[in-house]
Amino acid sequence: MIYDFITVRFGEITLKGRNRGRFEQQLLRHVQDALGHMPELEFNKTYGRIYIKLNGASYKEAAAGLGKVFGIHSFSPVKRTESDADSIRETALEVWKSLPKEPATFKVSTKRGWKGFPHPSYDMNHIVGSAILRAYPGLAVDVHRPETELRVDIQPEGTYLYCASEPGAGGFPYGTNGKAMLLLSGGIDSPVAAWSAMRKGLELEAVHFHSYPFTSEQSTDKVIELARWLSVYAGKPLKLHLVSFTDIQTRFTQTGQEHLTITLMRRSMLAIAELLAEKHGAGAVVTGDSLGQVASQTLGSMNVIGRTLSLPLLRPLVMMDKQEIIDKAVQIGTYETSILPFEDCCTLFVPKSPSTNPNLRVVERTEQSIEGLGDMVRLAAENTETIVLSRGEIIKRKSAVLQESEDRDWF
Ligand code: ATP
Ligand code: MG
Repeated sequence: MIYDFITVRFGEITLKGRNRGRFEQQLLRHVQDALGHMPELEFNKTYGRIYIKLNGASYKEAAAGLGKVFGIHSFSPVKRTESDADSIRETALEVWKSLPKEPATFKVSTKRGWKGFPHPSYDMNHIVGSAILRAYPGLAVDVHRPETELRVDIQPEGTYLYCASEPGAGGFPYGTNGKAMLLLSGGIDSPVAAWSAMRKGLELEAVHFHSYPFTSEQSTDKVIELARWLSVYAGKPLKLHLVSFTDIQTRFTQTGQEHLTITLMRRSMLAIAELLAEKHGAGAVVTGDSLGQVASQTLGSMNVIGRTLSLPLLRPLVMMDKQEIIDKAVQIGTYETSILPFEDCCTLFVPKSPSTNPNLRVVERTEQSIEGLGDMVRLAAENTETIVLSRGEIIKRKSAVLQESEDRDWF
C-alpha cells in the first residue's frame, strides 16, 4: 500500500458561514477521538480539510473509525510528495502503478491550493497526463467520463495524489445544532432515530422507561448497551436517564379504557421526556416513530400523542419503511443488540385491540379522571436514575467489527 496520508473533506458545514471555524474545530476533535486508539496518526487541519499522516498505521482501520464521524463528506487514501513538478510526475506514476486494475480511460485533475506553485493547473494536468500516457500506451484520455480520475492537490507543505474517495457519514458535526432528548426503547427503531438525529448535529441525552420488576434488569441492560454504542457516534459520553414507569403504567391499566392504554402511556412518556428536556437544556424530543408501523403510529394516534408536548417532536424515521430501518440498524451496528429477546414495558401491557384513532377529548378526560397523574409524572421525572456511558468499554467489540470488515476491498 503506497498511500501515506488520508485527506478528510467536510460536508454540510460549508453551508454554515460564520460558525464554520467552530464546526471545523469540533470535527477535528471528534476525528481525533474516533481514531484515539491509533497513536501513530498525526493530524493537520487546513481550511475545509483534515490531513492525517498514517505513519505506517492501517488505512482500513482508520477508515472504519472515520466512517462513524458526522460532518465528514468523504475521505481518500493519498500519497504525498514535494510540491515540485518532477516529484509530482514521478509520484503520479507510482500511484498509477499501484492501481488494482488498469483502467481504459482516465483524466488528471489538478487543484492548485498553493498559489505560489509555478505551473498553472492546466499545465500540471498535461505534464502528469502525458507521463502516464507514455508509460501506458493503451490508455486514453476521457475528460467527461473517465474510468479513473487522478487528483493532484497542490498545497504549500506538499502535494497529495489520489484516485479514490469513500463517502463519509455526512451531516453536521455532533452537537453543532443544539441538544434533544431521545426516547430510547430496546427496539430496532429508536437507535436508528438517534443516529439520524446525531447525524444532523444534535447532541442527545436519552431517556428510557422501564417497569421493573415487571420488566427484567436484562431488558434495561440491553438499552444501556444500545446507549453505549450510540456514544461511539457522539464521540463523547452520553447520558441515559432511567425512569421507573411501573406506577403510572399500572394506573393506566385500571382506567377501564383498555384500548387507550398505549395512547396514555405514550403521552405520559412524552410529558416526562419534556420535563427532562427542560431540566437538561434540550430543545426538542426525538422518537423512533414510523408512520403506520403500529396502532400508536397512525396519523390519528400521532396527533393525539404529539399534543402532549410544547417542544418540537422530531420523528426522523417517520417516512421510512421497516426494512430500510433494519438495514440502517445493521449498518450502524445496533441491530444485533436490538433483537435480543427482552421484553419492553410497552410490550408487556399491550392491549388486545389498541385504538388506531383515539379521540383527544376522551383521552384528556381519562387523564383528568386519574387522581394525582400530574404528580406521578413530575415524580417520575424527578426520581430519574442517570448513568453516563462512554465508548471506552466497547472498544473490544469495535475491534471485532473491524476484523469482520478486514476482507473488504477498498481500492
Ligand atoms: P420497534 O423496533 O419494536 O418498533 P420501537 O422502539 O420503535 O421498537 P415502538 O413501540 O414502535 O418501539 O415505540 C415507538 C417509539 O416510542 C420508540 O421508537 C421510542 O422512541 C419510544 N419508546 C417506546 N417504548 C419506550 C421505552 N420503554 N422507553 C423509551 N422510549 C420508548
Ligand atoms: Mg417502532
